[in-house]
Amino acid sequence: MESIGVAMTTQMFTYLEQNLEGRFNLFKLWNHPLDSDFLQLNAQSVRAVVGCTKSGADARLIDTFPNLEIVATFSVGLDKIDLPKCLEKGIRVVNTPDVLTDDVADAAIGLAMAVLRRISESDRFVRSGSWMKNDFGLGTRFNGKSVGIIGLGRIGSAIAKRAVAFGCPIGYFSRTEKHHRGYKYFPSVLDLAANSQILFVSCTLTEETKHIVNREVIDALGPNGILINVGRGAHVNETELVSALLERRLGGAGLDVFENEPHVPEQLLELNNVVLLPHVGTDTIETSIAMADLVIRNLEAHFRNEPLITPVI
Ligand code: NAP
Repeated sequence: MESIGVAMTTQMFTYLEQNLEGRFNLFKLWNHPLDSDFLQLNAQSVRAVVGCTKSGADARLIDTFPNLEIVATFSVGLDKIDLPKCLEKGIRVVNTPDVLTDDVADAAIGLAMAVLRRISESDRFVRSGSWMKNDFGLGTRFNGKSVGIIGLGRIGSAIAKRAVAFGCPIGYFSRTEKHHRGYKYFPSVLDLAANSQILFVSCTLTEETKHIVNREVIDALGPNGILINVGRGAHVNETELVSALLERRLGGAGLDVFENEPHVPEQLLELNNVVLLPHVGTDTIETSIAMADLVIRNLEAHFRNEPLITPVI
C-alpha cells in the first residue's frame, strides 16, 4: 500500500500521522497547500483523504483529487465533509464512532460539575492567594438536578447513564422517541429546556440542528439553568448565549465547542459562571489511539476490498 497517496488535511495526532506515513504515501496538506505546484503534480495519486473536526473535505478539496475513493475523518461528527458531493461521486466516507463516546460523556459531566461546583473558579481563587483573605462561598449541587439531553444518541445516552448514577431524572429530545423506560421524551427542545436544570447538547450538527439552542430555549432554561455543549459550536446561537449570560438570564455554561473555534467570544473570558474547554471532548491518549487505529483499519480494509469497519457512505 506504500504507493497509495493519502492526503492528511491538517495536523491532528502524531501517532496517526506516523502510522499513515508507515503504510501509505502521505501528503501533509499543511506543508503542501492545495494550489501548490507540488500538490498539483501529485494530485492524481491521492486516493484517500484523512480529515478531522478542524479541517475536513469540502467541495474544493474533493475536486482537487480526481482519483479520490475514500474520506476518513478522525472524528464522529461529519459536519466538515461535503457528504452530498461524496455520495454523488461515489466516494466512501468513514468516521470514528463508539470508541470516543465514553470520554466525551465524561467531559460533559465534568463540565457540568465544574460549572455547578465552581471548580475552575475555586482553583483560580486558591492560586491567586484570595483564600488568605476570604472564604470562597457556595456552589450548587449536581446530584439530583433534572437533566435534559438534546440528541439521545451514543454520546447523549452515555451522558444519561452517568447522570442517572448521580440521581438525576433524565429528559431528552431527539428526532425519534426511544423506548427507554425512565427517560422522559419531550417533543420539542423548548419543552425540554423548560423542564431541565442542566441542558446538554450532544446531537449531530446539520442544517436542522444549527442554532437549535436559541434565545427562546435559553430563556426557557432560565436564570438557574446551565447549558453544557459538547456537540458543535453552531448548535448554539453564541451571540444569544453571550447576552443571556451577561444579562443573567442563564445561570451558567460549560462549553467544549464554539461557533468560530478556536476563537472564543471575549465577553465569555470575563465570566466566572462559564467553563471553557478547547474542544477536548475526545482528547485522551486512550481514545485518540483508538480513533487513529480505526482510521487506519478502515483505510486498509478499503484498499484490500474488504468491508469498511465504520462506514457512513
Ligand atoms: P449519534 O449516536 O449519531 O447521535 C446523534 C443524535 O443526534 C441522535 O440522538 C439523533 O437523533 C440526534 N439528531 C440528529 N438530527 C437531529 C435533529 N434534526 N433533531 C434532533 N436530534 C437530532 O452521534 P454521537 O456519536 O452521539 O455524536 C453526536 C455528536 O457529538 C457528533 O455529531 C459530534 O458533533 C459531537 N461530538 C463532539 C465531540 C467533542 O469533542 N466535543 C466528540 C465527539 C462527537 P435520533 O436518535 O432520533 O436519530
